[in-house]
Amino acid sequence: MSNINNCWGSWARQPEPIADEDIISTENCEVLILGAGISGMSCALRAAQGGAKVTVMEKGAKWSARGGNIGVAGSKYMKSLGYENDIDALSREWIKRCGSRCSEELVRLYFSRSSEAMDWLLDIVTAPEYGARPELQACIYHGETYREHMGSHRIFDGPMAKKGLRPGAADAVHAMYCEALKLGVKFIFNCSACRLIKEDGRVAATIGACADGYIRINATKGVVIATGDISGNDEMCADLAPLANRCPKIYTPVGQNTGDGHRLGLWAGGSFEQQPFPLMLHPQAYFFSSLCFLFVDKKGRRFMNEDNYIQGKCNTLLSKNMDYAWSIIDSAWAEKIPATLPYGGGIFWDIDHGPDDTEFPTEKFAGMLERGMKAGTAVMADSFEALAEKMGIDAESFSKTAEKYNAACANGKDSDFGKRSELLIPLDKPPYYALKFGSAVLAVVGGLRVGADMGVLDENNDSVDGLYAIGNAAGGRYGVDYPMVIPGNSHGTALTFGYLLGGFLTE
Ligand SMILES: Cc1cc2nc3c(=O)[nH]c(=O)nc-3n(C[C@H](O)[C@H](O)[C@H](O)COP(=O)(O)OP(=O)(O)OC[C@H]3O[C@@H](n4cnc5c(N)ncnc54)[C@H](O)[C@@H]3O)c2cc1C
Repeated sequence: MSNINNCWGSWARQPEPIADEDIISTENCEVLILGAGISGMSCALRAAQGGAKVTVMEKGAKWSARGGNIGVAGSKYMKSLGYENDIDALSREWIKRCGSRCSEELVRLYFSRSSEAMDWLLDIVTAPEYGARPELQACIYHGETYREHMGSHRIFDGPMAKKGLRPGAADAVHAMYCEALKLGVKFIFNCSACRLIKEDGRVAATIGACADGYIRINATKGVVIATGDISGNDEMCADLAPLANRCPKIYTPVGQNTGDGHRLGLWAGGSFEQQPFPLMLHPQAYFFSSLCFLFVDKKGRRFMNEDNYIQGKCNTLLSKNMDYAWSIIDSAWAEKIPATLPYGGGIFWDIDHGPDDTEFPTEKFAGMLERGMKAGTAVMADSFEALAEKMGIDAESFSKTAEKYNAACANGKDSDFGKRSELLIPLDKPPYYALKFGSAVLAVVGGLRVGADMGVLDENNDSVDGLYAIGNAAGGRYGVDYPMVIPGNSHGTALTFGYLLGGFLTE
């Protein structure tokens, strides 16, 4: 069986080899890591701590990181706050929510070893040199159906947060980078890995395209693909994750994550997980919150049970070809939103907060509303008819929907979509607000098939000797969808598998 599908576009075609005479320099290392994101950086540091001579080749001018939450199944810090997870139950939950299309070995490895990776990271970032502090986030969905569990860690007060970056991944990656430099890890920035060289069946070197020309780096212990996702490559998305091309993609730095490592792995004999690749989606296009009261489409009709988690809301919009929908609230939102949180919640319904902060931050939400109205992602009116006009939808249709919804709330029974009675809260305090929300792609979280040692696998489940993949370049973590069993698990798995691979390569 070939690992390259004949229907795929030109991206899948293997380019010509680069001639030796075009290579301007050659260097040697033991572990070569392609990509300086959270997965590559954790692997680099851990391998260097294990005594390896490590080189990191990075396409951009610096390391990259984004986002705040790093989700793991536990940590000493989390335990000190009195929280522990049942990792057997969580593993089963994850596998169920991924339709059993994920690799059970990887899921198990994540749940059983991620606490160790977080302890390692927290020891680094909380050292006096970085001065950061961890915070456990309780912004999780509390209902049974889409239950989310504690484990999402953020990192506050580090040097990157003080510079204005979002507290979280940036301080993790920055501190690991500084520690890696101390251990002699060599970073080659502005250099794009473009060919893998196999010798005697083993991936032995990588050629990188740098500003001055091609360089070759030989690696005796392994080449690690940590080049992130494919969201910056529309052609690859069209073949491997077509829904990704139907929503705004918000990955940064723009244009760097173009699936290079996926292609290199494929050309070296690796294979992809089943397609379409899963997407990490958040309903954050337009207004940054969608809550749970009444959602209507552009025709003013209700279309789903609003009691759903972030990925579920996005999947529903996409399956209905909707680039956006409207979420309706009324002027009593400051009491009504907190009343729903014990039953639901999670991001874009609740607001990020630490474990002790049980108050809904009304001032923050009021600020969001104000900014939304200025930006046109939120509108306000005194009646349903006037609100419909501002949303640009049919007033009669919307008013009928809103009245029917209020009647269902009064009866405590949603015969249209079966929403739980606790969440049937009427919209009866004008003025009303409509918040425009739509799906955004954070990352395409599918890639090269790997084994439990992160070794890239061919179609027959044999390892491609010398080649490894982690982070979003690796497949098997999700399979079908991005499960919010623990929020922040994209960073959590990237950190854990990078940390573990750095250890495996130096054991
Ligand atoms: C706005 C936003 C917020 C997010 N927030 C969260 C969150 O709170 N929690 C969470 O879990 N996830 C979050 N994510 C997703 C998360 O950031 C990624 O899934 C995660 O960073 C992936 O890590 P990685 O190491 O695989 O790849 P990346 O961090 O993307 O790093 C890949 C690196 O490889 C480099 N590269 C690419 N091609 C080459 C090449 N040919 N040669 C050399 N280098 C190359 C890239 O330049 C990049 O630096 C967020 C995403 C976005 C867009």
